[in-house]
Amino acid sequence: MSATLNRQVLVLNRLWQPVNMCSARRAITLVFLGHAHVVGTDEDDEFFTHDVDSWLAHSSSHSEGKNVVRSVSSCFRVPEIIVLSLFDRLPKKQVKFTRENIYRRDSFSCQYCGFEFQPKELNLDHVVPRDKGGRSTWENVVTSCIPCNTRKANKLPREANMYPRGEPKAPSWRPLFSTTQRPLPCDSWGHFIDLKESDVVLTD
Ligand SMILES: [Zn+2]
Repeated sequence: MSATLNRQVLVLNRLWQPVNMCSARRAITLVFLGHAHVVGTDEDDEFFTHDVDSWLAHSSSHSEGKNVVRSVSSCFRVPEIIVLSLFDRLPKKQVKFTRENIYRRDSFSCQYCGFEFQPKELNLDHVVPRDKGGRSTWENVVTSCIPCNTRKANKLPREANMYPRGEPKAPSWRPLFSTTQRPLPCDSWGHFIDLKESDVVLTD
């Protein structure tokens, strides 16, 4: 019983984005409290949601070979996925424009010489210098080592003949939650978690 209750359940927010994992024990509590619905699939892999009552009804006829929690009179199939109905954890729309996040976007490597450095050896460079109208934006600020930064000074890329290695862009939003567990604890999670090709073990 306790192994069943410790199984991992995927938690989705109201936008059906994965935000977390929790134990089956916690998931069942949330469903009983009405804070979450169970996400179930039918034979055609379509998703539908259940509150406690409809999940109990569903559990009584769809529990063959599944993990269930039983009481004297009923059985409750352990959910694989739940979707929160009350708590909104909206994704941040943008990654904040900070020194640290620019370093992260650029993998702590100088965008001119390409070498990786410790943060204290790095600086930010305005590709088009501020005194030439360059703005402090994701598109115009790159990570630079101090020697490259000094060499470029307040020159335009063509004046210094120094160009960033890639076109600087705002970083794209990362998923709120991802896991490196492979295989995933439940196949149904695959609908919500991006599988990177390199993470997937191919079988024939
Ligand atoms: Zn450099």
